Amino acid sequence: MAEVERHKYDVVVIGAGGAGLRAVIEARERGHSVAVVCKSLFGKAHTVMAEGGCAASMGNANPNDNWQTHFKDTMRGGKFLNNWRMAELHAKEAPDRVWELETYGALFDRTKDGRISQRNFGGHTWPRLAHVGDRTGLEIIRTMQQKIVSLQQEDFKETGDYEARIKIFAECTITELLKDGDRISGAFGYYRETGNLVLFETPAVVLATGGIGKSYIVTSNSWEYTGDGHALALRAGATLINMEFLQFHPTGMVWPPSVRGILVTEGVRGDGGVLKNTDGKRFMFDYIPPVFKGQYAESEEEADKWLADNDSARRTPDLLPRDEVARAINTEVKEGRGTPNGGVYLDIASRMPAAEIIRRLPSMHHQFKELADVDITKEPMEVGPTCHYVMGGVEVDPDTAAATVPGLFAAGECSGGMHGSNRLGGNSLSDLLVFGRRAGLGAASYIEGLAERPTVSEADVEDAAAGALAPFGDSGENPYTLHSDLQKVMNELVGIIRKENEVQEAIEKLVVLRDRYENVAVSGGRQFNPGWHVAIDMRNMLLVSECVAKAALLRTESRGGHTRDDHPKMEAQWRNTLLVCEVDRSVGNKFVPGVTVTPKAQIPMRPDLLELIDIAEAEKYFTEAELADHPGRTS
Ligand code: FAD
Repeated sequence: MAEVERHKYDVVVIGAGGAGLRAVIEARERGHSVAVVCKSLFGKAHTVMAEGGCAASMGNANPNDNWQTHFKDTMRGGKFLNNWRMAELHAKEAPDRVWELETYGALFDRTKDGRISQRNFGGHTWPRLAHVGDRTGLEIIRTMQQKIVSLQQEDFKETGDYEARIKIFAECTITELLKDGDRISGAFGYYRETGNLVLFETPAVVLATGGIGKSYIVTSNSWEYTGDGHALALRAGATLINMEFLQFHPTGMVWPPSVRGILVTEGVRGDGGVLKNTDGKRFMFDYIPPVFKGQYAESEEEADKWLADNDSARRTPDLLPRDEVARAINTEVKEGRGTPNGGVYLDIASRMPAAEIIRRLPSMHHQFKELADVDITKEPMEVGPTCHYVMGGVEVDPDTAAATVPGLFAAGECSGGMHGSNRLGGNSLSDLLVFGRRAGLGAASYIEGLAERPTVSEADVEDAAAGALAPFGDSGENPYTLHSDLQKVMNELVGIIRKENEVQEAIEKLVVLRDRYENVAVSGGRQFNPGWHVAIDMRNMLLVSECVAKAALLRTESRGGHTRDDHPKMEAQWRNTLLVCEVDRSVGNKFVPGVTVTPKAQIPMRPDLLELIDIAEAEKYFTEAELADHPGRTS
């Protein structure tokens, strides 16, 4: 067997984005030793790219805001398919998590009277996003890294070793989770630079690996988003939910081709930018869906009045939830009112002075100048939908973040439930803080309650080592070709608008790709070998893509991030139904087994939460039976 470096920790956190770092802080605060493993450099995660802000009902910009309104907005955004307990915890705890970041040293933008400033975003009733210009994620990660360093300094004082309780393993990819019976016993991986293998023996693993966007051609996601946590959980026997729901962010760059998909923050629209077609028309007024009728401005005058004073008018439909805006842009382009590059215009230039644009949106100004040679203070941006966020993920207990496998926890984008069928902008950063903390606590409590620690068997280590090295071979399928074939299948057949025959075709093609994967081969050595890295990532992308496609086929309705051309309506019965993905080892191969998808009824919403939803709105989503005890019916 190849040589394997070995470590032992109380908790291993896979992923050093917002969710991972918040889990690390919490588990360490409970006195446990924690390894943080990330496949990128420490400090480079998607969280760093988050621009617009972090949603929390602090009520600084408008005192009418409160957790109940944030809860309702989140549920409405997710079309009421969200795990309501997660949405409740999130809405209640987000303000404390933001304030806590300040105690760690975060410097948010300020209101005139010195409080944390909050900006408007799609689907949020009040200005709610705490932000740092358009570089909020960067500040959040910087702050949490600083907190981790301060904890390491405390550990040094006590033990003489900075890394006594927190150690970072950067550029290290976890390839497999190990189990002792039904419980987690370790995580196995390799260092990307040297190719050396590494084993972490641990009773508790927190998955915080982010999303799956690299299965698509046009995406705002970077190379790390290959669905690793989703696939690691599945192969370890855990379940995923909501995998059919993918968020196509309405505004990605469309030109030049080399940067297609890169995100244009919703903050542009939050701060007054408007969408226009090639006729110069602000078309979003034509796309207010029946479920949102009455809640959005119906004229440009009203929308602009709202921008100046939120209390005096209804909000602009440019800020409808992302799924609605993405579909509207898709329709405008399809009907011939799109730009020559296949997008629409996003205009901030005509809406405010150049200096104000540069002050509020420095990264956007820089991004367009550098990448597209467009000065957004003078010209409109060209934008179109881009695969951005996966609502689906590891099925977890809302309070502890525990997955269905003992010792496994998940938080952040790789977990499922919180956002239902569609996530509101800004609700991811708050989700990371709330459930990252809960995952750290959940893992700490789990290990404190263990009578004895699980052990790792040598046979499992050998098997994991052989699995990691399996792609090396003389000739076979090129992993890059497989990747681009997969992206084509998912982009063209399981994209923003889906049809039964196309999704069916995708599933058949995914089976062929899975079979081709058995012959994948990479040449060269283990030292920084990108072909090998892609070959390992492909296992995960193929597995999660099958989950997306199979769940998309089964859900015969349109809701949030899942639009079926052949089933265009939302159906109340489906709101009540989750689609649960599990591995099916009777088909496929060791690395890419088959997937089964099974419907499961949601737990009914607690009556006190259901009562928060106005009966007129609840009727649009819930079944008659579910509403029987609603006060709107009984009083
Ligand atoms: P990440 O921050 O992506 O971290 C994942 C970590 O897992 C990384 O460290 C990665 O290296 C590691 N990893 C992955 N696989 C492995 C493996 N096999 N082994 C070891 N390590 C692994 N949300 C908002 O709320 N507000 C915003 O304004 C906003 N803007 C955004 C802008 C952009 C351009 C993008 C792409 C997203 C934005 N989002 C925003 C969404 C939000 O940033 C992400 O959903 C969130 O940061 C995900 O955080 P995370 O901690 O779950 O994962």
